[in-house]
Amino acid sequence: MDMEFSPEDLAFQREVREFIAENYPADLRAKQDEGEEMAKEDFLAWHKILYKKGWVAPAWPVEYGGTGWTPTQRFIWSEETARADCIRLLPFGLAMVGPVIYTFGTPEQRAFFLPRILSGEDWWCQGYSEPGSGSDLASLRTTAVRDGDHYVVNGQKTWTTLAQHADWGFFLVRTDKDAKQQEGISFLLIDMKSPGITVRPIITLGGEHEVNEVWLEDVRVPVEQRVYEENKGWTCAKFLLAHERTGIAGVAASKRGVEKVKAIARTELDGDKPLLANPFFKRKIAELEVDLTALEFTELRSLAGANAGKGPGPESSLLKIKGSEIQQRLTELTLEAVGHYGAPYFRGFGEGDNEHPIGPDYAHRAAPTYFNTRKTTIYGGSNEIQRNIIAKMVLGL
Ligand SMILES: Cc1cc2nc3c(=O)[nH]c(=O)nc-3n(C[C@H](O)[C@H](O)[C@H](O)COP(=O)(O)OP(=O)(O)OC[C@H]3O[C@@H](n4cnc5c(N)ncnc54)[C@H](O)[C@@H]3O)c2cc1C
Repeated sequence: MDMEFSPEDLAFQREVREFIAENYPADLRAKQDEGEEMAKEDFLAWHKILYKKGWVAPAWPVEYGGTGWTPTQRFIWSEETARADCIRLLPFGLAMVGPVIYTFGTPEQRAFFLPRILSGEDWWCQGYSEPGSGSDLASLRTTAVRDGDHYVVNGQKTWTTLAQHADWGFFLVRTDKDAKQQEGISFLLIDMKSPGITVRPIITLGGEHEVNEVWLEDVRVPVEQRVYEENKGWTCAKFLLAHERTGIAGVAASKRGVEKVKAIARTELDGDKPLLANPFFKRKIAELEVDLTALEFTELRSLAGANAGKGPGPESSLLKIKGSEIQQRLTELTLEAVGHYGAPYFRGFGEGDNEHPIGPDYAHRAAPTYFNTRKTTIYGGSNEIQRNIIAKMVLGL
């Protein structure tokens, strides 16, 4: 594996750095620095700038609006955006349903949906999980019954991230109750404004409204909004999950996270010395950095494989496990570093809290972020399920 960037790659890196420095919105940067919660328009602000530049979907084929970058350029891009602490682009349209539509969709579906995903006109949510059907997703019970040129959909989805903003959702529904589980599922694109859809918030431990329950009662969905064949939706579902897991390791963002924790530990005191001088704390940071470097090399190996034309294999499960554990350890160290300042801004469960946070700015979101990050070992296929995949596919057990 050649670890050196070529002169072309270095020129690309400079171009990216300059673009971010000149175009990243100052008000968004200020909100991030203040540790404020991001609103819909915040997520979309950077998205729209990248869309204008033609850089919003680096992984897509050029014919559908991709950049045509090499895997190394895409790696540089993710490194540079993390280094500059750019807000993460939401994955539901760009990284999930977009690839499903350009791979399995009809020409009409591609022509209608893809440009709207790229421009940010449509906000998407993912309707896979149900109460009782998470890891065992194929047991899902939401039904879609054919009625002329429509399906009539009934059921309940849960943990639907940011569905409160969504214009469209991609849903897995059962279209054949008698077939084997995986063979009776279809993949539907549903307009979230359709009559019969109710979105109810679930407030998480960090006090945030990020996930929802979505109820579907006699929702009529035109048949032309089904992607791929009836009862073959599991093929799309699996394809999408592979895309969801790629990039979930978050190496570049975690590298930036380590720098942030170190900066906090340089400021916070342990007695009369910086916390970073405490040998126990220093050791924890060092262990984290060692694991992160190992993960980075594993990701680079998989990148070298992609450069040589190999698709992502079961190693994406390994990247997901290690990456998510590192993300959690980072939030644990941050909480430890800010000490008691982490506690007051635990925002409780009610709205209208008008208490001012106390302590330094970097402490305000330490607790909510810690609680929120418990999710990383659950979503995208829980880490236990990823271990099962490694046991079967890598170790042959
Ligand atoms: C913050 C957050 C956001 C999410 N966003 C979305 C979203 O937008 N759309 C969506 O569709 N879903 C979403 N999910 C749902 C997520 O995909 C599921 O939570 C996940 O697949 C686990 O399913 P479950 O919660 O039903 O847990 P279960 O499947 O009930 O698992 C419970 C526990 O048992 C373990 N377990 C289960 N089966 C096995 C097994 N065979 N071997 C070993 N251990 C096992 C699991 O690892 C877990 O620890 C989100 C979840 C979270 C936490």
